[in-house]
Amino acid sequence: MPKIEEKYGVLIAGTGVAGLNCALHLPKDATVLMLSKDVSDKSDSFLAQGGICVLKADDDYEKYFDDTMRAGHYENDAGAVELMIRSSPHVIEELVGRGVAFARDEKGNFRYTREGGHSVPRILFHDDVTGKEITSHLLAEVKKLPNVTIRENAELVDVIAEDGECFGGVIRERESGKLYTVYADHTLLATGGVGGLYENSTNYRHLTGDALAIAMKNGVAVEHLDYVQIHPTTFYSEKHGRRFLISESVRGEGAVLYDKNMRRFCNELLPRDIVTSEIRAQMKKDGTKHVWLDMRPIGEKTVREHFPTIYRRCLDEGYDVLKEPIPVVPAQHYFMGGIKVDKDGRTNMKRLYAAGETACNGVHGKNRLASNSLLESLVWAERAAAAMTSGEEGAIARFPEKDLAAYADYGALKQEYAKAIREEAEKEAYCD
Ligand SMILES: Cc1cc2nc3c(=O)[nH]c(=O)nc-3n(C[C@H](O)[C@H](O)[C@H](O)COP(=O)(O)OP(=O)(O)OC[C@H]3O[C@@H](n4cnc5c(N)ncnc54)[C@H](O)[C@@H]3O)c2cc1C
Repeated sequence: MPKIEEKYGVLIAGTGVAGLNCALHLPKDATVLMLSKDVSDKSDSFLAQGGICVLKADDDYEKYFDDTMRAGHYENDAGAVELMIRSSPHVIEELVGRGVAFARDEKGNFRYTREGGHSVPRILFHDDVTGKEITSHLLAEVKKLPNVTIRENAELVDVIAEDGECFGGVIRERESGKLYTVYADHTLLATGGVGGLYENSTNYRHLTGDALAIAMKNGVAVEHLDYVQIHPTTFYSEKHGRRFLISESVRGEGAVLYDKNMRRFCNELLPRDIVTSEIRAQMKKDGTKHVWLDMRPIGEKTVREHFPTIYRRCLDEGYDVLKEPIPVVPAQHYFMGGIKVDKDGRTNMKRLYAAGETACNGVHGKNRLASNSLLESLVWAERAAAAMTSGEEGAIARFPEKDLAAYADYGALKQEYAKAIREEAEKEAYCD
């Protein structure tokens, strides 16, 4: 028996919407440790601008289902799509109950916006900072839970696995480099996307697909690692670092794309992958590094009310969207592939679960429909919490030893992880 210094009921890697919603649905007597690679409010969940989809009425079910399938090139798992859509009213009700404020009209009814690939408006939003509104409420709720500890700047570098069973993780304190083990009855991988591996991405730089690499190293099934979504419109800049997203709902509300001669060249409301290829083809034809996005057709009132953050950020960059078009370019944005999970977030390793962007449950197929990912993450995180506590996996008979010497060369380990992912991701022309 190893010397166990820390043991929890559940170890959660990630404090985005997936990790947080799992913690919120675990029983109050479960001991939970949450890891955040950076500070806990620095996750892509905080960056989501456009909104979160919901089944607003039963008569929208068919259309919502079709839109999701069409965007995914019909490679989606139809059962998973149905599960997500049918769960959405409950998810929204719960978020509202936790204090999340979505835009409403004068009568107090929800206002819905639209993005590319949606045949009707069905996206709930909070200005252009929906992710911050949702995630800050979830984080505040989790912080109130006495059974949950959040540990920041603590990076999961591996799982403790033996004979197809997971017993917790190997963790590295990012400041000191200290390595230690945490044993757990159940482990959730919720480490988000892979954008940090790309030069041009809307994601936070510290999101480097760690859970995915860990899964691959331990023989956990992964799928569709080449399904990397490029967002058609990020603010074009010569500077290095994270690319600022110009939300798709901007186009949903009427913004149009121009070539170098300020002429429209595509239908702005087609799904992301199609608009991206149209933009790339136009840039190639024009010999330019970007195209132009004109937000003036949206009108000043909507720009100021619905897109205040985008408006201010563009002003900081020297562009007044009320007066002129802005330069935009496609950049890596989202990862449809991931650790293969079932409808309850189970991986093929006992006691190991995955949810959120790092997981692949089949909802998105080959291309994600805009504003389906916050929803999908929340749905699967809740289901994973229920599966973990169902008792189906029984008690652990014996905890294995873990030798930490193998993790001493952190730089080499990270290079190995990054290489494993990029080799797979680059198999398709889907990558930038
Ligand atoms: C700019 C932008 C706009 C978006 N807009 C929308 C939108 O409008 N609607 C929508 O539905 N989706 C949107 N998305 C996508 C959506 O935000 C994400 O898919 C979703 O938030 C992912 O949630 P998550 O919990 O899986 O991961 P994240 O929120 O990214 O959280 C990942 C967490 O894992 C932690 N972590 C990473 N690696 C490790 C490690 N090795 N050890 C420990 N912790 C680790 C991080 O520190 C972080 O806490 C947007 C994404 C971006 C980038």
